[in-house]
Amino acid sequence: MSSNLASRHVRTQTSSIVATTVCFLVVALILTGLMAHVVVKMTRSANEIDDARATRAARAAISAFVARLSGTTTDNAIWDDAYSAASSPTAADWAFENWGKTSEDYALYDGAVVIGPDRSSIVSAYAKGKPFEPSAFFGEGFFRQTNAAADPERAPLVNFIKTENGIALLASQAIQPFETAGELPKLSTLSFYKEFTSEVLDTLSDEHELEGLHLETKPRPEFLNTPITDMKGAVIGYLVWPSKAPGSTVFHQVTPYVAAAVAILALFLIGVLMVGASEARRLRQLAQAALFEAGHDSLSGLLNRHGLLSLLEELESSGASPLRLYLVDLDGFKAVNDAWGHAVGDDLIRLVSNALLVCHPEVVAAARLGGDEFALVHVGDATCDDMEKTILAQFAEPFKIGGRTIEVGASIGAAARDGDIEPLELLRRADMALYRAKANGRGQAIEYDPELDQERQRVAELEGQLKQAISSGAIEAVFQPLVSATTGAVTGLEALARWRTSTGNISPEIFIPLAERCGLIDALGVHMLRTSIEHATNWPDLALSVNVSPIQLCNPEFAAEVISVLQELDFNPKRLTLEITEGVLMTNPDQARRSIDQLKRVGIKFALDDFGCGYASIGALRQFGFDRMKIDRSLVSALDEGANGADVLRATISLATALQIPVTAEGIENSRQAAILREAGCDQLQGYLMGRPMSAHDISGRLQEDSAA
Ligand code: C2E
Ligand code: MG
Ligand code: MG
Repeated sequence: MSSNLASRHVRTQTSSIVATTVCFLVVALILTGLMAHVVVKMTRSANEIDDARATRAARAAISAFVARLSGTTTDNAIWDDAYSAASSPTAADWAFENWGKTSEDYALYDGAVVIGPDRSSIVSAYAKGKPFEPSAFFGEGFFRQTNAAADPERAPLVNFIKTENGIALLASQAIQPFETAGELPKLSTLSFYKEFTSEVLDTLSDEHELEGLHLETKPRPEFLNTPITDMKGAVIGYLVWPSKAPGSTVFHQVTPYVAAAVAILALFLIGVLMVGASEARRLRQLAQAALFEAGHDSLSGLLNRHGLLSLLEELESSGASPLRLYLVDLDGFKAVNDAWGHAVGDDLIRLVSNALLVCHPEVVAAARLGGDEFALVHVGDATCDDMEKTILAQFAEPFKIGGRTIEVGASIGAAARDGDIEPLELLRRADMALYRAKANGRGQAIEYDPELDQERQRVAELEGQLKQAISSGAIEAVFQPLVSATTGAVTGLEALARWRTSTGNISPEIFIPLAERCGLIDALGVHMLRTSIEHATNWPDLALSVNVSPIQLCNPEFAAEVISVLQELDFNPKRLTLEITEGVLMTNPDQARRSIDQLKRVGIKFALDDFGCGYASIGALRQFGFDRMKIDRSLVSALDEGANGADVLRATISLATALQIPVTAEGIENSRQAAILREAGCDQLQGYLMGRPMSAHDISGRLQEDSAA
C-alpha cells in the first residue's frame, strides 16, 4: 500500500472511530435521559396517585364527620318525646335535661340549641353544658340555617359555620314526631354543633390516615388542601395536610443507587471517550506519519518527488519569486555502489543530501528524486551561475566514509519558474536541461532553454524517421576494405551503416546512439547483420566484420539471434568478426561474457573496436578472449601531430602482440602512417588510404580490379 493510500485509510479509520464513539455517547446519553425521565415520571405519578387518594380520604373524613352529626341530629329531632316537650311549657327544661346538660362532655356534639316555632326565640342554648348566645357565637348564619331547617319535610341541614373559636359543623332539623298524621303546626328546631377542634382533626386524621391534618384560613401551596365552605358556599377555611409523596420517598431511598449507577455510567462514558480519543489520536499520528512518509525520502530524509511537487505548488500559490529548480545527478555513483557496496552508497547519499541542503542560504528545500538524483529549490537573487558553482563546489572535495575517500561528481540541470508554469512543467524543464548536461559529459551544468525543447522535438521526429527507415530497409550497408599489412591485399570488409535521406546523409555517429537510446538498436543490428551477410556471400574469400552495439550484446537473446541469421543465410561463422567497443565490458560484464562465449563456440571472432580512446585495458582483451584489437583512429591521426604518438602506438601494439592478439589500425589516411603501423606490428590496415567505405557494387568492382592487377 502506498503512503498516500495508507494515510487515506488511516483517515477513514479515524473518522469511523470518532463516529462510533460519538454514536455510542449519544445512544448512552439518550438511554440515560429516557431512564431519568421514567424515574421522574414514576416518582411524580406515585406522588400524584397518593395525593389523589389523600384528597379523597379528606373528603371522606369530612363526609363521615357530617354524616355522624347529621345522624345524631335526626335521631334527636325526629322523636315523639322531644316533639311533645317542645310544645309544652317545660320545653326549656326538657331540652336542658336531654341535650343541654349532655353537651358538657358528649362526644357527638359540643352544643345544642332549640329555637321556638316562631323561629327566633331561643328555647334552650347550651354549649359544653353551659348556656350561650348562638347568634353571638355563630353570627347571623345561625338563624339562616335554623330557619331553613324548620321545614319538617327537610332532612337535617348540615353546614360548616364560622364560630368565635374557629369552625364548627352545625346540623339543624325541625323537632317532629316519628310519624305524622296530618299537617304539623309550626315546629321548633333542634341544632347540634360540633367544633372542628384539633382533637376532632386528630381523630379524623387517625381514621383516614391523613397525618398532620389541620385547619388553616388560607391554602398552603406546599401542602394538600381541601376547602371548607359554609352554607352560602363561601370558603371559610381549609383542611391542610402534608403530602406523603411516596414516590419521592422511594426515590430518596433509591437515590444512592441511582447516583452510583449514574457515576458508573459517567465513568464508563468518560472511559469510552478517552479510549476513543486516544485511538483517534493514535490514528491521527499514524496519518501524519503516513503523510510525512508520502512526501519524504526514507533514506535521506529529504522530500521525495511527491513532496517536491507539493512544495512547488505551495510556493507558487504564496508567490515566492524568483524561483529556480536545480536537478543534480551524481556522476560515478554506480561505480561507488559497485565497488564499495550499497551501505557505503547509502552513506554517500546521506552525506550528499546534507551537503546540498545547506549549500546556500537561498536554498529553501532539497529533494531526492531517484537513486542518485537530487533537486534543490532556490528562492532568491543569487544567479544561476553562482548557484551552479556552489553546487559543484560540494563535489570538489572527496567524501570520507569509514576511512574511504570517495570521489563523485555531479551534473546539473536548472530551470527558472517563468510565468505561470506548473510545477510538473518546471520539473520537466530542469530534467531536460540535466539530460543535456549529462550528454555533454561529467560535471556540466545547463540551464533550460526553449531550444532544448525544439531539439527534443527534432530528435523525436528523427526517431520516427529512423524507425521507418529500419523497417523499410532504407538503412544500407557500405563496406570498407581491411587490408593485409604485408601483402596489401584485401582480406576482409567492415560493414558500416548508412542512412541516406531526402535531406542528406545522417552519420552513424548520430543515428546509432539515437537507435540505442530509443530501443531500435536490436532491430537495426539484425538488419545490418543480415544485409552485410547477404552481400558478403558474393565475396566468399573475404572475412566480414560487423559492428555490434554494447546494448545488443547485453540482450540475452542476441547470440541465438546471430546464430539463427547465419544458419538461415548459410554463412560460415568463421568468416564473421563482431566488433564491439569496450563500454559494455564495464557496464554489464557478465552478460557480455555469456554472449561472447556462446558466439565464439560456433566460430565467430571478436574484435575490440576503438582501442585507445576509452578505458579498455589490455586485461580486458585477455579476459574476454578477443581475437583482434582495432586501434582507434585518434591514435593513428596523432602520428601526424608529434613524435610521442608513435611511441604510444608502438607500445600499445607490442603489448597486444605479446598477448598474441593481432592488431588492426583504423583511420590510415597516408602512407607514412601506414609505414609506421606496419613496422610497429599491425597485421591489418584500414583507412581512406586503403579504401573508403563503398557500396557493395563498388567493392565488387574494386575486388575485380585488384584480382586483375
Ligand atoms: P568504427 O566501427 O570505428 O568504424 C570506423 C569509422 O571510421 C567509420 O565511420 C569509417 O567511415 C571511419 N573511417 C575509416 N577510415 C577512415 C579514415 O581514414 N579517416 C577518417 N576520417 N575516417 C575513417 P562511420 O562509418 O561514420 O562510423 C562511425 C561509427 O559508427 C563506427 O565506428 C561504428 O562505431 C558505428 N557504426 C557504423 N555502422 C554501424 C553498425 O552497423 N552498427 C553499429 N553498432 N555501429 C556502427
Ligand atoms: Mg568498427
Ligand atoms: Mg573503430
